[in-house]
Amino acid sequence: MDESRNIDAVRPNCAVVGVWGLPAAANIAYLGLYALQHRGQEAAGIVSTNGQLLFRHAAKGLVADAFRDKAVLNSLEGGAAIGHNRYSTTGPSSEQNVQPLLVEDRSGSVAMAHNGNLVNYLPLRKFLEEEGSLFRTTSDSELILQLAARSHTPTFLDRFLEALRMVKGAYSLTLLTRNSLIAARDPNGFRPLCLGQKDGGWVVASESCALDLIGATYIRDVEPGEVIIFDHDGMRNFRFTPPNKPTHCIFEYVYFSRPDSRVFGDNVDKTRRKLGHILAKYHPAPADVDFVMSVPDSSNTAALGYAHESGLPFEIALIRNHYVGRTFIEPEQKLRDFGVKVKFNPVIGVLKGKRVILVDDSIVRGTTLKKLVQHIREAGALAVHVRISSPPVRHPCFYGMDFPSREQLAANDMTLEEICDFIAADSLEYLSVEELVSGVPHENGQGYCTACFTGKYPIDNDEDEGTIKLGC
Ligand code: SF4
Repeated sequence: MDESRNIDAVRPNCAVVGVWGLPAAANIAYLGLYALQHRGQEAAGIVSTNGQLLFRHAAKGLVADAFRDKAVLNSLEGGAAIGHNRYSTTGPSSEQNVQPLLVEDRSGSVAMAHNGNLVNYLPLRKFLEEEGSLFRTTSDSELILQLAARSHTPTFLDRFLEALRMVKGAYSLTLLTRNSLIAARDPNGFRPLCLGQKDGGWVVASESCALDLIGATYIRDVEPGEVIIFDHDGMRNFRFTPPNKPTHCIFEYVYFSRPDSRVFGDNVDKTRRKLGHILAKYHPAPADVDFVMSVPDSSNTAALGYAHESGLPFEIALIRNHYVGRTFIEPEQKLRDFGVKVKFNPVIGVLKGKRVILVDDSIVRGTTLKKLVQHIREAGALAVHVRISSPPVRHPCFYGMDFPSREQLAANDMTLEEICDFIAADSLEYLSVEELVSGVPHENGQGYCTACFTGKYPIDNDEDEGTIKLGC
C-alpha cells in the first residue's frame, strides 16, 4: 500500500495495461504501469509476446523495483504486452498471486491481468474444485481462466467469453496470447478502462494518465460489457452481454483515480473540483475562517474547488513527505503518532493564529484525521473545521476497493457529532449522497455505484462479508 496517500483512506486496488502493435511493447507497458503506480504498490508484472513465445517477469514491490534490472525488461520481447500493478483487496499476499497470470490453454499460452473483484468467486471455485480443478493461486482472477479451460468451445476467445458470462462482479481485463491482445470490461463498468492509439499501435490502460506518459492519444473508454480484440486482422469489438445501466465506482472520482486522468468519460480533476464547489455551497465555512487547506495530495483538488466557491484563500499548510515508501523502517525509539508525523508535517508559519477549513476526501477509520487535526492545532491553529468531499463511508466494498471491516468504519457506529468529537474538530460536515451524485458526470448516460455510502449494492455478493480471498 502506498502509505503516502491518505493513509486512513481506502486502499487502492490494481491497474492493468495492454499494448499492441508497437516495438518494444514491454517498455511501453512499463511506462504505463509507472503512471498507474497509485493503483497498486504491492507487485508489478509484464508479459510480452514476439508472436511465437510469451515472456514474463513479475515481482513484488513498486514498478521501478520490480524492473530495476533493465536487462530483464529488455528480455521481454515483442510488439505486444500486458502489465499489472497489484494491490490485493483482501487476504494474504504471495508470489503466486502476482499478475499477469500465465497459463497454458489448449490453444497455447495465455496471460491475464485483472482489476476488480468477483463476487461469486467462492461458490464457483468450490464447484470447480469438486469437479477436479486444481487452482494455483488464491486470486479470484484465476477463476476466469479456470472457467475458460473447462469450456468445450473451439477457440480461446469463445471459451473466455463463456467464462465472462458466468462470473459476477467487477473486472477490467487485459489478456495476451501469441497472436492477440484482448481487453474486456464488466457489464456494470465498475472500474475504468480506456483505449488509446500511438504510432499505428494500440494501448489500453486503467486510466488515461498512462496514455499521457506513453504518448498515446486517448480515443475512448472501453464500454461496459465490451470486448475488444487486437490481432493481425486489426481491431474488432462487440458486446458480450446486453448493456446494463452502468454502475461506475463513484469513489474513483472522490479519491482513487489520478486527477490528471479521464475516467468514465470525464476529467477527474474537473469532477473533484466540482465536488469541492458543492461542498462549499452546502457546507460553508464559518465567517471567521482565514483559509482553506487540504490533506495532500488526494484532497488538493477538492480543497481548491472549496476555496474558489467560498472566496477564501487556499494555503499549503500540510507538507507531505513523498519519499516514505514500503521500505521505510521505523526506528526502535517510537515517537508518538510517528506514522502520521513522518508523512505529514504542518507548516507552523502558515497555521499559527489562524482558523482553517481542512478538506479531506473521505473518512474511513478517522484515526489519521484525528492526529492531523491535533498536529494542526499544535502548530498554532485556533480552529480546525473539517469538510469531507464525500458522504460517510458505512459499508464495505465488494467490487475491488479495500475498506477496513464494517466495524472499523468510523461512521458505522458513530453519529456525525460523535465523529466530530472523536477527531476533535471544531465542526465537521460531509457531502450528502445526493450532493455527491449531483457533482459527477451524467451527460453520457453514466450511472454510479454508491454502495459504500448507501448499502445499496448493484450486484448481490454471493459470499460472506470478510471472506478471505484475493481480488485485484
Ligand atoms: S462500494 Fe464504494 S468503493 Fe466499492 S465500487 Fe461501489 S462506490 Fe466504489
